[in-house]
Amino acid sequence: MPGSRFSQTSNTDDRLSPPHLSAPSWAVPLPARLDVPMSNALRIAAIDALLPQTQCGKCGHPGCLPYAEGIAAGEAINKCPPGGTATIHALADLLQVPELPLALPATPAQVAVIREAECIGCTKCIQACPVDAIVGAAKLMHTVIGDECTGCELCIAPCPVDCIDLITLSPTEAEVQRARAEQFRTRHQHRQARLARNDARRRAARPVRPAQETAAAAPRQPAAASSLKQAKIDAAMSRAQWQKTLKAYGDSPNDEQRQQLAALQQAAQRDQQRLAELQATPAQDAPSAGEQALKQAKIDLASHRMALKAGERRGLDEQSLTPLRSAYTAAQEALHLAEERCGKPAPTRTLVDKAGLSAQLRQLKTDLAYARAELSKLHRSVPEDAAKIRDAQERLAAAESRLQAHTSAS
Ligand code: SF4
Ligand code: SF4
Ligand code: SF4
Repeated sequence: MPGSRFSQTSNTDDRLSPPHLSAPSWAVPLPARLDVPMSNALRIAAIDALLPQTQCGKCGHPGCLPYAEGIAAGEAINKCPPGGTATIHALADLLQVPELPLALPATPAQVAVIREAECIGCTKCIQACPVDAIVGAAKLMHTVIGDECTGCELCIAPCPVDCIDLITLSPTEAEVQRARAEQFRTRHQHRQARLARNDARRRAARPVRPAQETAAAAPRQPAAASSLKQAKIDAAMSRAQWQKTLKAYGDSPNDEQRQQLAALQQAAQRDQQRLAELQATPAQDAPSAGEQALKQAKIDLASHRMALKAGERRGLDEQSLTPLRSAYTAAQEALHLAEERCGKPAPTRTLVDKAGLSAQLRQLKTDLAYARAELSKLHRSVPEDAAKIRDAQERLAAAESRLQAHTSAS
């Protein structure tokens, strides 16, 4: 497009004209040189600088940078709900393309908060968080570091006990959060680098099998089960996207919106059809009855544990708590029985009854989790600060001994 600062479809070098963007408040400064040829990498960086770095994936990409790459290759500029109209406006200005209505409803500025008393310490939220904003250890309470949370919502769905809330920020708090875009980008990059390192280590540690043996070996995750799971996710996602958009456009959408809705509806029907076909195919690798019973026993145990904890929190008297305790014990026994029937090796784990944790013990464990997280954060910093790491190691050692002293005393 003549006069455009970037072409949306061209990957060839381009020239920057003076930066007169009305950039959203979270945008980092664009490259200052105005008269140098711009590489595709620079173009992508300039687009990425206008994205809010929430890393939520609602644009259909696994983060803001991949969406920036998509836009540089010609993708529509209206797919970022956290960025809203401010981002569309800035991108349209940068690329000299027409503004489009937001494809999905805008997401408000928000942060996640864990209802810590209900957390069962399963660590699923930690694995989902794209910016490492959650601290905690297995079977211990988890908590969100508010200043690091982008409000991406990715931790909500994996939580098996639904103990994570989203709190909408006030306009002032939202400004503060937006000003942290660079921090969010850096944390996301560190996480990606760490995951890649871990992956490489795991692959390097895996014994190399001869080719014939590898081909003969049965896959751990049967392909059919994994495609069915993926098809269910795809069908749910595309249905939700269509319905949300339908709601957002109201009763009288314009022509362009009607086209978008038709495309979304087709995608939802296609995914639903594919799911129906897969479900109709007899599953050779469906879980056995024993495995299904084991899964159900685990769910029952979690729900009885939650009921007991809720009763204790509400201050119920002993008479009301007794049946809840008996049901919880029975669920533990049922789980052991299901494990035996399923033919699984006897568990070596010990069930931790977190309902009985005293406030002091809970606090000591939280202190320990924070001390560990702080040390691991310092280890990830480049360059490493030896003095800070020493201090953090001392704090961790002190937290460990306080917990140990408390445990041996009680
Ligand atoms: S904030 Fe979310 S929707 Fe927007 S570009 Fe980043 S990952 Fe995509
Ligand atoms: S804590 Fe939850 S909402 Fe906040 S950044 Fe992590 S995954 Fe996203
Ligand atoms: S996913 Fe939920 S239950 Fe599991 S650790 Fe996170 S907050 Fe706790």
